Amino acid sequence: MHHILVFSEDPALATEVVSALPADVSARTVTARAELGPALKEPELELVVFSLPADSGDPCPDVSSVQDDLTRLPLLLVTRDGDVSLSCLSALIACSPAALVTTPLSRDSFRTTLYRAISASPLPSPDHSMAVTLEESNRRLNARLQELNTIYTVGKSVASSLNVDEILERIVVASVNLTRAEDGFIVLRENGKLFVRVAKYKDQASAAQLHLETSDSMAWQVIRSGRPAMLNREAKIATGVLVSSLLYVPLRAPGPGTFGILGVVNRERNTPFTESQLFTLSSVADFAAIALENARLFSVGEAERSRVSAILERAAEVIIVTDLSDRLWLWSETAGRAFGVDREAQGRPLADVIDNADICELFSRAPQHAAALHTEVTLDDGRVFNAQLSTIATVGRVVVMQEITHLKELDRLKSEFVSTVSHDLRSPLTTIQGYVELLERAGPLNEMQRDFVSRALSSLTHITALISDLLDIGRIEAGYDLEMGALRLDTLIRTTVESAQVFAGSEAISLSMALPDRSLWVWGNARRLRQVLDNLISNAIKYNRPNGQVNVTIQRDGDHAIVRVSDTGIGVAAEQQGRIFERFYRVQSPETEEIRGTGLGLAIVKSVIEKHKGRIWVESTAGKGSTFAFVLPVHQPSGGEQNQASTQV
Ligand code: ADP
Repeated sequence: MHHILVFSEDPALATEVVSALPADVSARTVTARAELGPALKEPELELVVFSLPADSGDPCPDVSSVQDDLTRLPLLLVTRDGDVSLSCLSALIACSPAALVTTPLSRDSFRTTLYRAISASPLPSPDHSMAVTLEESNRRLNARLQELNTIYTVGKSVASSLNVDEILERIVVASVNLTRAEDGFIVLRENGKLFVRVAKYKDQASAAQLHLETSDSMAWQVIRSGRPAMLNREAKIATGVLVSSLLYVPLRAPGPGTFGILGVVNRERNTPFTESQLFTLSSVADFAAIALENARLFSVGEAERSRVSAILERAAEVIIVTDLSDRLWLWSETAGRAFGVDREAQGRPLADVIDNADICELFSRAPQHAAALHTEVTLDDGRVFNAQLSTIATVGRVVVMQEITHLKELDRLKSEFVSTVSHDLRSPLTTIQGYVELLERAGPLNEMQRDFVSRALSSLTHITALISDLLDIGRIEAGYDLEMGALRLDTLIRTTVESAQVFAGSEAISLSMALPDRSLWVWGNARRLRQVLDNLISNAIKYNRPNGQVNVTIQRDGDHAIVRVSDTGIGVAAEQQGRIFERFYRVQSPETEEIRGTGLGLAIVKSVIEKHKGRIWVESTAGKGSTFAFVLPVHQPSGGEQNQASTQV
């Protein structure tokens, strides 16, 4: 039994060497440099097989410390595929190796070399064979390097273009030059047929664009099998086309699969193609396929982009799209005109480009991934838009705005009309109410007359309340009677609750409040805010249950004051909650049937709160009670304002 040491930092190569060993050779495999020194000291050791790293692989192991042992023992050098680091080879030449073998290992010749080295029988002129092997390795290395360099240059040139025709031309010209073929062409598959798209023939200076259908049988074969074809004998590949040698490689991409072929042929010259040319052409085809796929994806992207541009150009809506960091990305022409946004704005933060408080407020209200939000946006030129903002995960946010100036104008005219009619109705109604009330004084009324008078008076009270609410809402929306000033909201609540105690008592409701110790100031109209509190408290009493409770609280949350009016009443079902703030909307249910109202109270409340830059909402569970809450910005009063405040409420 012979004992040898196999050293290789490439475990796969070590395994290949060991598996090529004869049965009477026992090998110890070392893959770590640190273990090489001690392993070489093994007394039974007869030979060392040392694998050299590839030219582009690991650095050469430092053998200076083990040089004596390597020189003492017969040494076989192994390289993978003849690819060897020359600096490493020269370092080991000093150890007088017996032979240099390269993978794939031919079992028999490897064994012969191995036995010869072990028995120290001199190899036939080892120095000469080494020199020849080295020279050959070097020559192959250089040729390969040149080949790779050319392929790399072609790849770079092809990948630098996104123009399909240009890419095709460059590939064909490079392929003809690299293989020194007479002709070269690219055939592409389109709708189940083959078309020669680019061709360069022997007598042409450059490649030409074509679109010729072909019946090339070899091309079909390569496309179907996805494998290259090399033919070094005379063959007929299409009607009337005779070649003496041919090389076809498939053009493949991950999506479409094999979509064409790159071919070179010799017709007159009887020069066969080689394996190495096949390798070169395959590499060029791989580069080409990637470049063509990139160009295709780019043109698909461009087509999409121009479609989006056309939509944005012609859309009547104002459309603005931002990325996830609220930077401007796309916008319609109408948006550009409305907000004075030009090309330079691309990629800039929306807040820096669009100087419109409504839009900025809309964006600040919408956290990422929120549901769609609506708002009205007024432009500097007075036009009004209905804006909807939606968040699209992984894209950003989109605002779509439709102009509603004309609808707003209609709404204003309608409110004006209602207001005029209400105003004109108020005086005669007051007169009627006065006379009906005086009827009793005109003489004794019988039972039936008294009943009629009371019914007439009840209806008159209702219609007067309705008219007064209608007038109010008109005035609030038009901004009349809305002089603002600093006022203490806590004091306003206290007085309102105190005045409502009589009504609460008459309905058997206990009305309480919880106010903070410190004063809470807001900027507002005391009369209108009092109206808000009156409406909310009277609703909480009206829609309550016998012996129910109403509680009013106020609390400061940062720069805002939050007022809550809670009751233990009938509550509002979830599906009604969005509607009760609409004008004239009243919940129709057996429980509300008997309760009189105009359906305008909450619409007035909402209007007033919004005029104060606040927000109102309801939280309620049907049958369990409701909490109507509104939030207003807190005001920091000056000394003078504090003194005046007491006279405002
Ligand atoms: P009105 O009370 O005159 O009908 P509002 O605008 O004040 O009109 O209220 C609209 C509707 O909302 C009411 O008809 C009622 O159905 C419901 N609502 C208002 N407040 C409450 C409340 N505190 N509890 C239950 N339902 C309420």
